[in-house]
Amino acid sequence: MRQNDYGPIPGSTIFRGISGQKTIIMAANTRIATVAKGIFKAAKDTDSAVFMELARSECDLKGGYTGLTPKDFSAKMREAAKAVQFDTWALHADHITIKTGDSSEIDGTKQLIDAQISAGYTSFAIDASHLFNFEGKNVREELDKNIRVTSDLALYIKNRMKGKDFGLEVEVGEIGRKDNQGMILTKPAEAVEFITALNTNGVYPQVLAIANGSTHGHVYDEKGNVVEQLSIDIPQTKSVAKALRENNLHVGIAQHGITGTPRDLINQHFPKGDIIKGNVGTFWQDVVFNTMKVYEPALYKNIQEWTLEKYRPANPGKKDSQIFDGNCKFAIKEFFKEIYSVEEDTEQAIQAMAYAESLVFFKAFSSYGSATRIRKILD
Ligand SMILES: [Zn+2]
Repeated sequence: MRQNDYGPIPGSTIFRGISGQKTIIMAANTRIATVAKGIFKAAKDTDSAVFMELARSECDLKGGYTGLTPKDFSAKMREAAKAVQFDTWALHADHITIKTGDSSEIDGTKQLIDAQISAGYTSFAIDASHLFNFEGKNVREELDKNIRVTSDLALYIKNRMKGKDFGLEVEVGEIGRKDNQGMILTKPAEAVEFITALNTNGVYPQVLAIANGSTHGHVYDEKGNVVEQLSIDIPQTKSVAKALRENNLHVGIAQHGITGTPRDLINQHFPKGDIIKGNVGTFWQDVVFNTMKVYEPALYKNIQEWTLEKYRPANPGKKDSQIFDGNCKFAIKEFFKEIYSVEEDTEQAIQAMAYAESLVFFKAFSSYGSATRIRKILD
């Protein structure tokens, strides 16, 4: 038996444990960490493994827009897991994004990775998908810079982890990118070329993020109202997974941008097992703000006013509701102290909401029972 301190386990162990199962593991971006206890409690009660994650934009050495450094984030997640005694989770660095690939950016990225490793992260997502070369003459040329930067950083992580197992996610198509014909989707050949090249470089990710029609955050209609997200291309996703399998590449798909996707659609139509990791981010922020609206009206009003005042000038013609919706994440750092010192009944309500919503996600993802499978290979 392992020494159980309820700390995170390697992301790779979670993926190994669900291999061959029709299961998606939820990855929650807990921008406001208060939701974590509710999520872990639901994970424990349903025996579901879970990833807790924040992206580079959300959490970096300066605190990102959540005000949390990797060390802070790690401490908050560990504390929440310990409080509910849940032990089958990974601490994941979502979107370690590289935008230019120049040497100063790579150096800064390595510093961030060092901080994540010393904070005890057990899983990492390198996102160099922005380095797509539109002038490339073939798939290999288009992906060349992404392949080089991803390999460099993955081998850096491997070296710094000193033989410890870790989860590795990589990204081939930029999520949410559009051209004048609509969303640009990842082709099966691109996914195969990308993973094959990484494997040749000694890099073996367990999970691949593709562009398959989803968008991060909310989707709006032309009037600026939040609407359901129905744009994920399921046949394309299945074709990518099939192509990877047929080429003997052992990698599943990470579905980014799930907020707003109806959970009955996920439950009945998502290719579980092709998709093995499902990222849910903005949803948890909604849980907090919607609860605060009732429990902390004065604080909510301050957050609303601050956000609108700051972001109205850059968004002419947009409705206030959409401006707030799209930018309230930047208020988290500004109101950090207030958000983390709300009344106890507010916290209770946030955690109860997070608990109930997690149950529904775990059910829709068919992850009930996954924790026991994973624990078996740990013991
Ligand atoms: Zn994402």
